Amino acid sequence: MAISIPFAVDTGIQGLPDTERRVLLELILHGGQSRVRIAERLGLSRTSLTRVTRQLLDAGFVIEGEMQLSGTRGRPAEALYLRQDAARFAGVKLTADQLYLVVTDLSATIVAETAVALPSRKVEDVVALIAHEIARLEDQLGALTGVGIAAAGDVRSADRGPILQHSNFLGWDEVPLARLVADASGIPATLVNDVHALTGAQHWFGGEERHRSLVVYGVGAGIGCGVVIAEELHLGAHGRAGRIGHSRIGGRGRRCENGHRDCIHSFVTMPAIEQGAGVEAGEYALALDRARGGEAVALGAFESAARALGAAVADAVNAYDPDMVAIMGEGVDMLDLAPEQFRTGLAEFLEQGDAGSILIDRPPFHFDLYARGAAVAVMRELLA
Ligand SMILES: [Zn+2]
Repeated sequence: MAISIPFAVDTGIQGLPDTERRVLLELILHGGQSRVRIAERLGLSRTSLTRVTRQLLDAGFVIEGEMQLSGTRGRPAEALYLRQDAARFAGVKLTADQLYLVVTDLSATIVAETAVALPSRKVEDVVALIAHEIARLEDQLGALTGVGIAAAGDVRSADRGPILQHSNFLGWDEVPLARLVADASGIPATLVNDVHALTGAQHWFGGEERHRSLVVYGVGAGIGCGVVIAEELHLGAHGRAGRIGHSRIGGRGRRCENGHRDCIHSFVTMPAIEQGAGVEAGEYALALDRARGGEAVALGAFESAARALGAAVADAVNAYDPDMVAIMGEGVDMLDLAPEQFRTGLAEFLEQGDAGSILIDRPPFHFDLYARGAAVAVMRELLA
């Protein structure tokens, strides 16, 4: 990823010197803290923390307060807290026919959201729609610091900004979407693969306990994963990291785009489940109803999907040995319907270790999390 910045933009965060930016990021990721602790964690002298604090206060990013340190009595320590509403970011998720747009604050909390049908799949129409929606939200909410755009496909770095490749749902290839949106909207823009977006957000804002290494699966119309290794979101040399799913696992399912009938994709995606359950394309909800009602063919499709998902998770665990695995997306019902088959697939394809010892999380999911991930992607570009 790289950010595309339109000419002559001053957004506050971009103008912050490196140490100020590090202190701000520390507060975003770890919450309000005593000044002593911030200085310790970042290796700053008292004098330089005082200077940095003044800068951040003047710029409106932090507020001062006091904090009673645990195990101490007497005077509370001086502390710094994030002003969450000091900056706002837009995040866009594009599907084949819809644009989902959210605005988040510095804590990645969604403060506004909208969904609009795409007028067409022409690049210029979609760019104009994004710019229009950003202008409308800026009228309501004030200036936005940047916009992230998430789509299925590969995001390749290039000198003049990232390029979207092989975005099959949109039928796009070689589109410099970040630069086009930055030019049209007048705010910095970045572009990110949608599952990488979900992963970056889960890494920074995934819950109480932060993990240094994790693998996040996005399961829905397709399957992909994102990988964080030692605190770094691993995008791959060509933006293709996490393309799991064509391992052959036996059986006979839906023909994938590579012509396989027996790969993970053949079973695990929503279209594969629909076909396996004998319902029409797009009738996933019907397949789900039938499986929940105990109808054998439909249930069988979810059982095959569960085994395939187990195999997919085993692939990533074999490759990366993460602290935890998160499974997200709109097509993860196989985990409820066929937990045994998931564990069987995991155990069958795991090279080593005990399938029961792998920390697997299924965070609450809402489709807006992809757009939120895109907003976090622009935060990561500007702050990390
Ligand atoms: Zn395949």
